[in-house]
Amino acid sequence: MKWIPLILTIVCTHVKAQVINHSYAHPDKVSYHHLHWQAKVNFQSQCIEATATYDLKPHDDHPLILDTKGLEIQQVKSDGVVVPYELGKTEDPILGRPLIIQVKSSVKQVSVTYKTTAASEALLWVEGDSPFLFTQSQAILARSWIPCQDLPALRFTYSADVEVPNGLMALMSASNAHQKAVAKKGASTVEYHFEQRKTIPSYLMALAVGNIEFAAISNRCGVYATPDQLNLAHTELADLEKMIVAAEKLYGAYQWDRYDVLILPAAFPFGGMENPMLTFATPTILAGDKSLVSLIAHELAHSWSGNLVTNETWDDFWLNEGFTVYFEFRIMEELYGKEVSEMLAALSIQDLYQTMEELAPVDTHLKLHLKDRNPDDGMNDVAYNKGYWLLRTIEERVGRPKMDAFLKNYFTHHAFGVMNTERFLALAKKDLMDPGNYRFIAPEAWIYQPGVPENAYPIVSQKILETDDWIARCNASDEGIKQLPWKEWSYQQQYRFLTNWQCPSADKLNEFNQRFGVSKTGNSEILFAWLMMCIQMSVWDDANEQVMSHFLGSVGRRKFIAPLYKAMIKAHQRERALGYFDRYQQTYHAVTRNTIVEHLKSE
Ligand SMILES: [Zn+2]
Repeated sequence: MKWIPLILTIVCTHVKAQVINHSYAHPDKVSYHHLHWQAKVNFQSQCIEATATYDLKPHDDHPLILDTKGLEIQQVKSDGVVVPYELGKTEDPILGRPLIIQVKSSVKQVSVTYKTTAASEALLWVEGDSPFLFTQSQAILARSWIPCQDLPALRFTYSADVEVPNGLMALMSASNAHQKAVAKKGASTVEYHFEQRKTIPSYLMALAVGNIEFAAISNRCGVYATPDQLNLAHTELADLEKMIVAAEKLYGAYQWDRYDVLILPAAFPFGGMENPMLTFATPTILAGDKSLVSLIAHELAHSWSGNLVTNETWDDFWLNEGFTVYFEFRIMEELYGKEVSEMLAALSIQDLYQTMEELAPVDTHLKLHLKDRNPDDGMNDVAYNKGYWLLRTIEERVGRPKMDAFLKNYFTHHAFGVMNTERFLALAKKDLMDPGNYRFIAPEAWIYQPGVPENAYPIVSQKILETDDWIARCNASDEGIKQLPWKEWSYQQQYRFLTNWQCPSADKLNEFNQRFGVSKTGNSEILFAWLMMCIQMSVWDDANEQVMSHFLGSVGRRKFIAPLYKAMIKAHQRERALGYFDRYQQTYHAVTRNTIVEHLKSE
């Protein structure tokens, strides 16, 4: 991993802003409990013009410090009166710059009028016949579209009025009363009103605007998508209500009123983002056979782990993600049985070992060390899968009833609050593990040391073991391939095979494709694994080149796209990688693009 040196202190005329946890803000001095956002979205200029108004908590005389990045600040008002402000002189490449506003203790409300710019990294403006805009705020990009105290430990409620071109729908991580859009004068724009009455941290602020339609699944959940995706999305997510019921049965009532899923354009850099009330999801989960719905179980689980109980700093990220993977697999077990959840668990362990090979040992601790670094550096399989494995090991040791009682209590008692690793450890010691179990599991070793401790519970999936037998047979002889029950396999088994089979030659790889039609699959995980094999074996015939080009040009999900570029560099195909990047980089979100740029720079 690359370390990025930062200038941590920006000296302004009167105020020294010291960075704490990736934010310039001092919410302990002056902070806000509610944010109102008045915005106009302009697709022509690819710009949002907005005023953010903050209702301050009681405070002493002290400056209000907000994080900003790539914003053009135009005016600041304090209780309705225009006041001077200071903006950090230089923009830090990761943190942006602080906006410093002097406020007397009597001031109740501050507002900032500003514009987003091309450097507003959270925003992706998708061009084409049907324009689309979406945001991705996690980890610290909320500041690039709304000035805010951009740290996960600070929660606030928000409301918004958003004006968009007539014919487009706006959605936020809030109540989405889309039927009630109000036409503005001249009818060229409409205005949508949003309310988020529950407190959330800034990284859960989200906006999407586009030609979007809605289809209900139950009276409290449904799916939003562009018209061409709506039917497929509605069929694929048919089990959504069942998932919510299963989740509630495990860890208590759903707290956020509605739960809807928005299927975004393919440029979305992640699998999903757990924006409250409205999960943002990549269309790459629409496999046509519901084989990738575990991603939705994951985002739904975040409605408890992450959104209700939030990691205090990004170093504690595993509290968001490890708990969510654990919860996701439990939901999958409820709906589809233990065999499916165990296959998912076995693959998560495979991914974890693969990721750990590439990381410095210190980056394989559960508690991360992200001070002076981009928090994105910590957002890899370790927080997710090693975190899961620790919780699974605890469950197997203390028993499921005790684990479930603890987690239900954890989500109830700490709802709408924050948690850090040390407080979790203290709670677990008190309520989850008796002294004998605590000594056996030794959670500190998982949390503060590299790799995976020897006491990790051995996860065994019968179906994955069967697949491994087939892999051994096929590695030993060609005859194995002819008898392979490929079509009967679940996607997890197919994925296991493709990521472990040692294909002997490019010809055999093509033969395999002709036999099983792998490159025509609708399952993006399988297609990705296939394309990785093509790169590793230098299979660049026209047909495969076309599949590769189409995938790189139509998918923006970082998990798929970045490793493909990285593999090309490793396979001495730099020119080819640069050619693709040149052609498609404009279609990628900054999150994906930045990672690829790092790979392209490497040897
Ligand atoms: Zn997650």
